[in-house]
Amino acid sequence: MSLDYGDTGDSLSNRKLFLNSLGIDYRALVCAKQVHATAVRYVTKADRGKGALSASQAIADTDSLVTNEKNLPLAIFTADCLSVFIYDPKHSAIANTHAGWRSTHGKICVKTLGLMSEKFRTEPADVYIGFGPSIGKCCYRVGKEFSNYFPQSVRKENQNYFFDLAGENLRQLLETGVVLEKVSLSNICTSCKISEYFSFRKQGNACGRMMSVIMLK
Ligand SMILES: [Zn+2]
Repeated sequence: MSLDYGDTGDSLSNRKLFLNSLGIDYRALVCAKQVHATAVRYVTKADRGKGALSASQAIADTDSLVTNEKNLPLAIFTADCLSVFIYDPKHSAIANTHAGWRSTHGKICVKTLGLMSEKFRTEPADVYIGFGPSIGKCCYRVGKEFSNYFPQSVRKENQNYFFDLAGENLRQLLETGVVLEKVSLSNICTSCKISEYFSFRKQGNACGRMMSVIMLK
């Protein structure tokens, strides 16, 4: 689905096929130029189509998008990283977030809820959350320093350390007041299921990217 990574020749037609089935115009897609940081952007009609047809037009230096605009689809691209969908039915607002370990360390989901609160008066207890497929704690081997970054989400097995990326994001979200029953986890490990998903760690930087999309109708 990415216009930058992997075999991009069919990206636009893939997007069209996928989005048509959801009643979404692929030319309306709002994409971020993701940089593993913590900037969250409020997007409006004026951003419609940014990054839909060319990667260079995507919104720069951004890893999380929020909006309350209808028919404005927000896209996040991943291969191992976690995508987080947020929906506030009370104030009719949404977010789509790209959470790798660096952004998770910077609490990007918490920051996203913060901007939603500021812009739409979103309260954590009201939101529904969905996690996309990401590398699981079974496969995400990390350096020892991760146990300092994420003391509650790193497991040591023999001499190896494993990071629970989805678990850490869930933990941070619950801490803000998000309700566990309103969170839908995918529980899919992209590295284990390499025949169905892209895995950056297994396939390297040249691998393709999956797309997560959310839109208010
Ligand atoms: Zn795995």
